[in-house]
Amino acid sequence: MAGTPDFKALANPAMRNLSAYDPGHDIPALRRRFAGAGGLLELGSNENPFGPSPSVIPAIQAELAQLHRYPDPAGNALKRAIARSQGVGEQHIMLGNGSHELLMQLAQVFTGPDDEVLLSRYCFAVYPIAAKAAGALPVYADAYPADHAMALGHDLDALAAAITPRTKLICFANPNNPTGTWFGSRQLIDFLDRVPPEVLVLVDEAYIEYVSDPALGSALALCTRYPNLIVARTFSKAYGLAGLRVGYLIAEPSVLALLEPVRESFNVNALALAASEAALADGPHLQKVVARTQEQREWLSAALRGLGLRVSPSQTNFLLVHFGPETPAIEQVLLQQGIVVRPMGGYGLGEYLRITVADRSENERLMAALKAVRP
Ligand SMILES: *Cc1c(COP(=O)(O)O)cnc(C)c1O
Repeated sequence: MAGTPDFKALANPAMRNLSAYDPGHDIPALRRRFAGAGGLLELGSNENPFGPSPSVIPAIQAELAQLHRYPDPAGNALKRAIARSQGVGEQHIMLGNGSHELLMQLAQVFTGPDDEVLLSRYCFAVYPIAAKAAGALPVYADAYPADHAMALGHDLDALAAAITPRTKLICFANPNNPTGTWFGSRQLIDFLDRVPPEVLVLVDEAYIEYVSDPALGSALALCTRYPNLIVARTFSKAYGLAGLRVGYLIAEPSVLALLEPVRESFNVNALALAASEAALADGPHLQKVVARTQEQREWLSAALRGLGLRVSPSQTNFLLVHFGPETPAIEQVLLQQGIVVRPMGGYGLGEYLRITVADRSENERLMAALKAVRP
């Protein structure tokens, strides 16, 4: 064979040494392996074990006759439904094929070489990938230490202190993945008051539906007061539609207008649009999912603490648990029993596992397995 060209040298410099987002274990292979043995218990990806509203299925079926047609390119019906439910104007909404895509585009459009994207140490793994893919530099502010009440959570004072003239974009999730920690609306306001108005602030609210602490309200209420504020939401978690990939941004229309040219045509498919609209319309189902998750979050936290484990406080549908130096061995023991949790080595938290809060019987199966390794 003639020599293969050096394709890496051909690539955009920002892309040459990027690592892909790690989605965790090979779930389809594990499902086959444990199909006959009580089934796979999937606690690694913060999915909603209760599933979406039952009204989603007929909404998808109604779309099937139109599969040969492109979907609504703007997703207007879904935008209207979101606008109504969130009390914002439709022109403030942009839909994505999952919010991951929108985070990538945000960095692509608003940052580049010589720019800094400011993050907190234990942030969602997509943010540094988005920054690096845009050629920008991810800069990490220190998080709270492990023995703080908001263990490993975002320290907004440290973030504010790390803003430089090169900072273009600040990204954090509230509540946060992978820590589960959060800060209140009052703290967010104090932080936003310290951010120059030309620096964009992305508040990722992927888990906002699961919040029970009244001190934490959605940042949406602040969008009019802070035009540099962008809120990201998703249908992948509490709405139970991870398999369909729908997320959205709420931002100033002039910000969205700059993102629009890099949005792929028809980026949200027809089934996903119809399903999200149906899911959004079923408030009682969402409330039921949230209530059961909150109740199980308490139950599982208490059960894990009962084993002497350190469990971070959480306002999400998962728990970050400190297992110490035996963490990789414990993860393997669980996996051999068909229980998938998320190892945290990629986040620099090798002594922790992130565990999705599931239904009671599933949480009990996890606890039984853990008790056998940690009597
Ligand atoms: C799960 C998650 C998302 C959702 O991503 P999608 O692409 O919408 O599925 C976004 N942000 C955070 C912090 C998450 O944990």
